[in-house]
Amino acid sequence: MNIVKKYCLRTIAIAILFVFGLCLSPLPTLAAESAPQWGYEGDLNPDAWGKISRDFATCDVGKNQSPIDITGAVTGQPVQIAFNYQSSPLAVVNNGHSIQVNYNPGSTISIDGEEYQLLQFHFHTPSEHKIAGKAAAMEAHFVHRNAAGKLAVVGVMMNEGRENPLISKIWKAIPPIGQTKAIDNITIDAAHLLPNSKSYYSYTGSLTTPPCSEGVNWAVLTTPITISSSQLQEFKKLYPIDARPIHSTNARKIELHGSV
Ligand SMILES: [Zn+2]
Repeated sequence: MNIVKKYCLRTIAIAILFVFGLCLSPLPTLAAESAPQWGYEGDLNPDAWGKISRDFATCDVGKNQSPIDITGAVTGQPVQIAFNYQSSPLAVVNNGHSIQVNYNPGSTISIDGEEYQLLQFHFHTPSEHKIAGKAAAMEAHFVHRNAAGKLAVVGVMMNEGRENPLISKIWKAIPPIGQTKAIDNITIDAAHLLPNSKSYYSYTGSLTTPPCSEGVNWAVLTTPITISSSQLQEFKKLYPIDARPIHSTNARKIELHGSV
């Protein structure tokens, strides 16, 4: 075999290996590229979250999970939370799990002297937390983050009663699933979804949706706000249930700041 023939054969062999290699290599699938799916009913229900993806393992093994039944609270410091919410252009996201309202930077809370920015708020039905074993019709979660990346979530219970004008504005702007609707000429003030009393229960918990990350400072206000029955039904038509069941409090301390 002369040197040229040997070189040609080797090139052909490499080419064949290369083509076979391409055919045998797994093709990227859509499932691998997009985030894992989760939900509230059927195969993707909250009990299955920890098994859906390794990224969601904390949902199963975490010992400081949320929500919880708020009971046996000990008296803590007087109210240590101050709201400094500004108005923001209305931007409503229908993310397939809930209705979320994104907020412009500049609105903050301070808890125990630490400042957190309001990022967004969203809704669950029925409420995720229970207070002394009792759930409310809905619960709003105001999600804040501080400069170090730590999260503080304020929970506001919502009972059936008087209509809430801000909820009407938000519900009217709900886009189809997977879309965001930003309406620059409508501004809202998240403070209009807060009760007058800022007394709250505090404890350390987690995100209530995958990946269920822990280290979240929770402040659940003791006083509920109201929404009308038709406002509740309107939400339930889109999301009949989007609440994670309660988890064990384990060794955690729940504190009451202010009065019930
Ligand atoms: Zn939430």
